[in-house]
Amino acid sequence: MSFAAFPALARATLAQDPATILDHFRARLRAEDRTFEDRETELFVDTGIGFITVRAEGDLVALLLAAADGNKAFILRQAVVLHLDQLAPGLAERLVWDGPLPEFNRPPTFRLARVAAVSHPVPGFARLRLVGDLACMGVGGMHMRVLIPPDGRLPVWPGLDAAGRTVWPLGEDKLHDPVYTVRNIASDGSWLEIDVFLHGQGRTCHWAPAALGAEVGLMGPGGGGFPETERLFMFGDETALPAMARILEQAPAQMQGRVVIEIARPDLRQALHHPQGVVVDWVLRGEDAPLADLAEAAMAGLGVEDYFWFAAEKAAAGRVRQELRRRAVLPRNQCYVAAYWEA
Ligand SMILES: Cc1cc2nc3c(=O)[nH]c(=O)nc-3n(C[C@H](O)[C@H](O)[C@H](O)COP(=O)(O)OP(=O)(O)OC[C@H]3O[C@@H](n4cnc5c(N)ncnc54)[C@H](O)[C@@H]3O)c2cc1C
Repeated sequence: MSFAAFPALARATLAQDPATILDHFRARLRAEDRTFEDRETELFVDTGIGFITVRAEGDLVALLLAAADGNKAFILRQAVVLHLDQLAPGLAERLVWDGPLPEFNRPPTFRLARVAAVSHPVPGFARLRLVGDLACMGVGGMHMRVLIPPDGRLPVWPGLDAAGRTVWPLGEDKLHDPVYTVRNIASDGSWLEIDVFLHGQGRTCHWAPAALGAEVGLMGPGGGGFPETERLFMFGDETALPAMARILEQAPAQMQGRVVIEIARPDLRQALHHPQGVVVDWVLRGEDAPLADLAEAAMAGLGVEDYFWFAAEKAAAGRVRQELRRRAVLPRNQCYVAAYWEA
């Protein structure tokens, strides 16, 4: 990354003992397993969407943000505020900002959308087409929260407080906020589609088939991405199918690898477009070996250039993450292990 690509700059100062603040950020970054440069009186973090610098300037602390646009600078500002909240309530309110941060009424990652179509092109899922000004959901991440208002109430959407924190509606206005993958998105961002797995128990699976015309909020995008590798090992269950299908569709034709998808019933198989050199296996939950076992067995064959991807139930993901760390075959940026739901 070069600074030239990050023209949205903002700076804040805080009248607070610099050593305490630097120590706090150091500890938080370590706890989050982040890579950062520690220059004693200055910490420098490349967050992936921009840079954060925390610097001692005499008796003050200076916080510098550099991002590609105002939205991303705002997200960095939220991260800084949340870090300060951990140290002492009210600290973030004392930040003095002098950068050209945009003013927002709502979090810049929030979008309103309407369900324009519900279809069932793949077995076991409802596909929802959402319309709105959604171009931002196609850049910088593959997943987003779908905010579903409580039944029979007018929606109250997330707002912002004076320090830039997202304020979520509570009590009777609390939103259901599951995470879904952007399965398809229009090139002009006027619509996107999500595939909702109808697992039978959750609020979203009851809501989705009858959601035509409903207004929803979207927050994102965040997380996930297209693995850049010549050899991909990917393991997932039904909830990971939309992400796996999208990754395989966009994979370069010469990609090699193996994909294992665990499903509850044989009729949940769907046609996938994938490079010829990627072998796709479907396994049945309860009949074949568990997905986590298959993923762990595959770790023995990983090469240093490979990419390993796993997404399924929380306990399985936890086990796989631990084993991957224990083996330490691949660097962090060549692994994705995520809990997509909790039993
Ligand atoms: C990054 C990410 C991307 C995701 N992408 C998708 C996607 O594209 N499509 C998709 O369908 N899901 C996806 N998921 C999973 C989805 O967010 C969860 O399944 C979520 O719980 C669904 O919300 P719900 O309202 O149906 O159920 P909740 O209200 O969250 O839970 C209600 C009950 O349902 C159970 N439950 C939840 N999921 C399952 C399941 N898969 N099987 C059995 N029981 C379950 C819970 O244990 C709970 O008891 C994704 C999750 C993450 C973290």
